[in-house]
Amino acid sequence: CGVFGVFGAKDVAPSLYYGLISLQHRGQESAGVVVSDGKQLKSHKGVGLVDEVFKDFASSQYKGHLGIGHVRYSTSGGGSIENCQPLLFNCKLGQAALAHNGNLVNAQTLRHQLEQQGSIFHSTNDSEVIAHLLSRASSDDLEGAIASALGQVRGAYSLLLMTEDKLIAIRDPLGIRPLVLGRKDDQYIVASESCALDIVGAKLVREIEPGEMLTISSEGLEWDNILYSKKRAFCSFEYIYFSRPDSDFMGKNVHTVRKNLGKVLAKYHPAKGDIVTGVPDSSLSAAAGLAEGLGIPYESALIRNRYVGRTFIKPSQEGRIAGVNLKLNVINSVIKGKKVIMVDDSIVRGTTSRKIVEMLKQGGAKEVHVRISAPPVTHPCHLGIDTSSQGELLAANSSLEEMTKAIKADSLAFLTPKELLEGVGVKDGLCDACFTGKYPVKMGCCK
Ligand code: SF4
Repeated sequence: CGVFGVFGAKDVAPSLYYGLISLQHRGQESAGVVVSDGKQLKSHKGVGLVDEVFKDFASSQYKGHLGIGHVRYSTSGGGSIENCQPLLFNCKLGQAALAHNGNLVNAQTLRHQLEQQGSIFHSTNDSEVIAHLLSRASSDDLEGAIASALGQVRGAYSLLLMTEDKLIAIRDPLGIRPLVLGRKDDQYIVASESCALDIVGAKLVREIEPGEMLTISSEGLEWDNILYSKKRAFCSFEYIYFSRPDSDFMGKNVHTVRKNLGKVLAKYHPAKGDIVTGVPDSSLSAAAGLAEGLGIPYESALIRNRYVGRTFIKPSQEGRIAGVNLKLNVINSVIKGKKVIMVDDSIVRGTTSRKIVEMLKQGGAKEVHVRISAPPVTHPCHLGIDTSSQGELLAANSSLEEMTKAIKADSLAFLTPKELLEGVGVKDGLCDACFTGKYPVKMGCCK
């Protein structure tokens, strides 16, 4: 999911819309905003892409100086209207709204306990658990209620909360999902990615650090460290696949990191080929890095139809298969009679990779050597990226040889988790649980 919040603009609705458009790649199932004019919170949300949801948006009725928005990609709960965010709720401190990126691993247990205490849930998504915990917190102030609620949840969360006059941004203690603060004149913007700051002309101030809570009000900014942890576990998939290449995290640009991953592939897993190509869009940077590392020309052999959603993000298997056919095409004259090194950012179920290898061979490629700019995905995520259950993951159930056969490639190689760190340029601080099974938070029901 993607979250976006604005404080201090005369009219926040246009910024919210542009911000959500730039975060569309983080979720395509639903979108929504909540705006406050200082007295009342008003919500507009719906199922679909941002443009579809805002087609009938009467911005004149949503005037306000403060607002938050959300684009949803479901990893918990379905894609129905009840699960659209921001969630608007009442607590004893008044009206509030919440937008969540991430996934809580103990949501089911907490939900069960809350239901036994009389809470009535309106959605099936884990974020509503946070709203109920906030409503039930005994503290008299919002900050105390937040500390108490978040003390009970476990997992990944970059959260935006708002009341009539405050915008609050919180990042989980491990910093699993990103959250950045930007400024434009007197306006403060909080967003999942720095690319969303650029679109509204804001400059990056800094990231919200793991465990930090930032409160923005007419009194200015207040920083609190409410959830301290020494450990860090930023999702490596944000670098590999999920985020836009024009975003920066931890001072590193996503495109540059991907290019480095390609160079590391060239160093440890070279292949003999005539051209290197990448699967658009998220693998193009890694393909450029691999081509540079190998000294082989980079060619655009695969063309993406921009008007179809990303296959990884579609919830159903049928959607994924149809998606591959619709979204990619091959330039036959570029690959005819050539040994092609094809770079992709992941193999999850293998469906997409097999289809692309087939397309390249049907287009006349003599050989197709596949290089993946990530380690094999052997475990499901649970922390906000839909990588499927273990039974569906090709690498969890097959050897390298079996995988090579399954995707019909002439050769196949992945990065190792250590090489991934080398490519990102860090020694630690990344979550790599979907490659190693070493989850940064305790899974299961018990805290
Ligand atoms: Fe990211 Fe994988 Fe960790 Fe999930 S398990 S947060 S996809 S690195």
